[in-house]
Amino acid sequence: MSQPSVRLYNTLTRKKEELRPLGEGVVRIYSCGPTVYRYVHIGNLRTFMLPDLLRRSLEYLGYQTQQVMNITDVGHLTDDTFDRGEDKMLVAARLENRSPEDIAAHYTAAFMDDVRKLNIRPADTYPRATQYIPQMIELIAALLEKRHAYEVDGTVYFDIASFPPYGRLSRNSTEKLIAGARGEPDPRKLHPGDFTLWKAAGEHRLQVWPSPWGPGYPGWHIECSAMSMSLLGERFDIHTGGADNVFPHHEAEIAQSEAVTGHRVVGAWMHGGLLMLSGARMAKSAGNFLRVTEIEEQGHDPLAFRYLALQAKYRSPLNFSVEGLAGADKALRHLREHAADWSQDGADEMQSTPGEWGSRFRDAIADDLDFPRVMALVAELVHSAVPRSVKSALLRHWDNVLGLDLGRTGFERAVPAGAEQLIAEREKARAERDFARSDQLRQELKALGVEVSDRSIEK
Ligand code: AMP
Ligand code: ZN
Repeated sequence: MSQPSVRLYNTLTRKKEELRPLGEGVVRIYSCGPTVYRYVHIGNLRTFMLPDLLRRSLEYLGYQTQQVMNITDVGHLTDDTFDRGEDKMLVAARLENRSPEDIAAHYTAAFMDDVRKLNIRPADTYPRATQYIPQMIELIAALLEKRHAYEVDGTVYFDIASFPPYGRLSRNSTEKLIAGARGEPDPRKLHPGDFTLWKAAGEHRLQVWPSPWGPGYPGWHIECSAMSMSLLGERFDIHTGGADNVFPHHEAEIAQSEAVTGHRVVGAWMHGGLLMLSGARMAKSAGNFLRVTEIEEQGHDPLAFRYLALQAKYRSPLNFSVEGLAGADKALRHLREHAADWSQDGADEMQSTPGEWGSRFRDAIADDLDFPRVMALVAELVHSAVPRSVKSALLRHWDNVLGLDLGRTGFERAVPAGAEQLIAEREKARAERDFARSDQLRQELKALGVEVSDRSIEK
């Protein structure tokens, strides 16, 4: 079976490009992870679904993948666009009256739970920023030495004028950066767009490390340069994040990593579109967000959100609505019922699969993860004249990529009229060890289309 070539949209070039993994058959991926100062919301989770769908698709197409997702537990400022404000971890520590380590441990565990609920497969490695301080210091020292950075009173800044490609990823020109800098520029910066690599601790810091420039803590951007290159090497295939990470976070990461190494580090930059709620970006800080546990509390399957997200192109913004979620939940339940019903029809095998369906599926995922096209294909299959057992087998096979638990049974299904009465009678016969009667009732149930099996259930 020949596989289609994989084409992925690269934010840097604004084009779909063919994937050519640097390592033999292994695609190495770095994904920006959560800042663990609060619970993640379904907008964050949409962004974390992107590398999951990417990996599942690539593995379906025969590649291996290696994914690193960082956990930011220091250095992310409340105003990251303009490189100022307070460290989010410390704000949370103060508000909750706990240590930053406790805050990080609590919200990291909650993040892992939420990710599991959406069938997002775990990354291979989850480095925490606080474990990579020496590597960050090393990068900053190299930037200083190469004159891409300068130090003022124990704080080290990246000099954006020293790196001409700065702004290429986000198409932010230096002039626009100056015009966009709100309020008083930091007088210590050579250029208002320069960003912090290392920040002097000042007073009252909880998370402080010694450095050649005095006690302090790292900037958010240097964390991802250090963790990605330490774990995936100086060249790797794909970097993912949310659309709001393009500037300044990824622009800064490119400047840092490329200024140190002198070459391109990331093959393709992939960015997920933002999840919107009531016309505004879903955001922790703005308070207009929804957790996946809230979706459950509303009686929905968390995977209904996954289904909803699959219907939109990953790069497009997606407006979340309760009605949309309810519709997705219903559609998902129907699909599972079909998959279960049809599997009763015969062999659960792929031999009889019409090749055309398989290749249309592979073409769609290989074309920049075109899941709206995949979901349309699923709908077309459901209504097609393909034999039911084949439909069921196809759906279950595709579910390796979709991750919708289409093989899940045990959900409520309407039982045909009269069946409940027969089931109760049969239970009674079994309890009385009247197996002849029980068998006869099994046949009657079968005639109604209800299969019963006798299992001992472990207590
Ligand atoms: P944070 O924990 O704030 O660092 O965010 C974690 C990830 O979620 C980042 O990659 C963001 O780009 C992403 N993100 C934040 N808000 C949204 C949103 N409304 N929709 C989609 N992704 C988001
Ligand atoms: Zn990052």
